[in-house]
Amino acid sequence: MLIVMKPEASDAQVEEVLKIIRDLGFKPHPMPGATRTAIGITGNQGAIDPAHFEMLSGVAEAIRVSKPYKLVGRDLKQDDTVVRVGDVEIGGSEPAIIAGPCAVETYDQTMAIAEIVASCGVKLFRGGAFKPRTSPYAFQGLGEEGLKILAEARDRFGLSIVTEVLDTETADLVEEYADVMQVGARNMQNFSLLRRVGQARKPVMLKRGMSATLDELLLAAEYIMAEGNYNVILCERGVRTFADHTRNTLDLSIVPAVQNRSHLPIIVDPSHGTGKRHKVIPLARAAVAAGADGIMVEVHNHPEQALSDGPQALLPDMFKQLVAEVHAIHKVIAEAEARLG
Ligand code: PEP
Ligand code: MN
Repeated sequence: MLIVMKPEASDAQVEEVLKIIRDLGFKPHPMPGATRTAIGITGNQGAIDPAHFEMLSGVAEAIRVSKPYKLVGRDLKQDDTVVRVGDVEIGGSEPAIIAGPCAVETYDQTMAIAEIVASCGVKLFRGGAFKPRTSPYAFQGLGEEGLKILAEARDRFGLSIVTEVLDTETADLVEEYADVMQVGARNMQNFSLLRRVGQARKPVMLKRGMSATLDELLLAAEYIMAEGNYNVILCERGVRTFADHTRNTLDLSIVPAVQNRSHLPIIVDPSHGTGKRHKVIPLARAAVAAGADGIMVEVHNHPEQALSDGPQALLPDMFKQLVAEVHAIHKVIAEAEARLG
């Protein structure tokens, strides 16, 4: 059920509808928009009778939602969601760039890469302290020590930190240190983790599962929003296919598909999407041209020594080039669109 308030509905009228939903034992999700407020309802098992709401003052209509998701969809919220992290907007008018090493390895490595990222004018710094690795014998991350190093990089270079939360056990710790909590591809359908980050006070970046469909991705985001956290950023990072020239197949067609169905911002990760550094810049260009709200890339000052994902890490000069090209491509498209009105 989706309740659409009249454009002129007062705050008191919205409040009254929220109270009635709560009194019925359900959870209301008010979404103020540019022209009207819509209210999603979750927590109901069966259908709710629209007549309950249609006679209330300030209500324009009560609509049964036929799609499997309620809160992530455009029906509820027509305006694009903008997630604010520090003074960066993800889903706003400029493409957001998130960059940093795959993993926090040492203090010196992290500071050196943070300095490179910051010197290119990029404000969002990534790095895993808890790493999901295919092999149990591979480097698993520095844990809390890694989070402390990230916090120091934030203070020293004025960055915001994007870092992965691997499980519910360490979620409190990650929430304390991170500015954005990343849920990785392998955890996209870890429903208890999705519920946990849905209760967090920090934005969540949700990466597409290794073979997830669009609906599965949106329903995973729905788990987070249903708990009350509306600051969700989606991330395309490639899916497993038969192609063997690439680590994954980066599916840029999901960008307009998401934008058609959902108000949530979507960024693209061409590093995990390709696995090879020579493919990262071309696909970052393509992602921006396809309308992505930003990109996330891995950068390393000594990729040959990296403890994870060295082959896909951009060298500092390549990263500088990528930042310039992302902005240039975005500008060309924005100007062409403005000319056409
Ligand atoms: C990552 O971004 O560090 C990562 C592990 O990516 P993914 O979950 O997409 O494999
Ligand atoms: Mn990685």
